[in-house]
Amino acid sequence: MKQLTPVATPPSYIDIFEGIRDKKNILARTALAVAEAAIRSRFSDYETRLAANTLQGMPDSALGGIRTELRSCYGPNVGMKALKKAIKEAQPKGRLIWCPFCGATTPGSHDHYLPAEKFPEFAAHALNLVPSCTRCNSTKDDDWLHAGARQYLHFYRDTIPVVPYLTVAITSDPVARAIAANFAVQQAGMSDASWALLETHFRKLKLIELYDSYSNDLLNSVLRSARSYINAGGPSAASFLANEAQDDANLYGDYGWRAVLLRGMSVHPHLNQWIAWL
Ligand SMILES: [Zn+2]
Repeated sequence: MKQLTPVATPPSYIDIFEGIRDKKNILARTALAVAEAAIRSRFSDYETRLAANTLQGMPDSALGGIRTELRSCYGPNVGMKALKKAIKEAQPKGRLIWCPFCGATTPGSHDHYLPAEKFPEFAAHALNLVPSCTRCNSTKDDDWLHAGARQYLHFYRDTIPVVPYLTVAITSDPVARAIAANFAVQQAGMSDASWALLETHFRKLKLIELYDSYSNDLLNSVLRSARSYINAGGPSAASFLANEAQDDANLYGDYGWRAVLLRGMSVHPHLNQWIAWL
């Protein structure tokens, strides 16, 4: 779970939006052009608030009258296609193999961090479009704010402290030859504000349950790879897993769930026994 890189400017985010707008049909284009000053002001407000971490205080939209035209800018058009490509290309290679929100599935959609239903003017703002899997996108939906506090990490804004916030306990049953991983999330010395945001992000997206469930397949496939590595003359399963953990950590953070699991396996006293069970 790591911060994403925002699309580089210039062109400014409002210029990107207006490029999309200018490809719309004459009716939509005209309606949007009439509101140009108001949209520009809102874009500026979004960018200022994101930088200052005051996005949670964003006033309601006053542009509901052109909601349809604003939201249509997110539709299948050349400009939006180019923006989505730019978002992808701004990231280090491999970062978007997994959804930034969960780190567990393929990001096949874009979440509108400020929901497009309530904030239609940000439907095509580059900083409001966060690559996401459909599960995270539909779970988050309009639920971004509660009692004045943001509920989910904003991956262009929030840094995840490099502290061991995610832990795993790996247990095995020699009779059933079964291995299970149980994850937990903890404050681990991060500030109360960082923890509050991370905790709601994990709880609302049910990430611990997701990791516990997905780790079954990962455990087995990684143990098979480790066995192949040893059979091909590799020094040890532990070194194989430690290297795999480091590769994953480089892309998704030291405490992404895969890195935590692979590292936990690499130092586990029963590792070689598990491989013998395969
Ligand atoms: Zn996801």
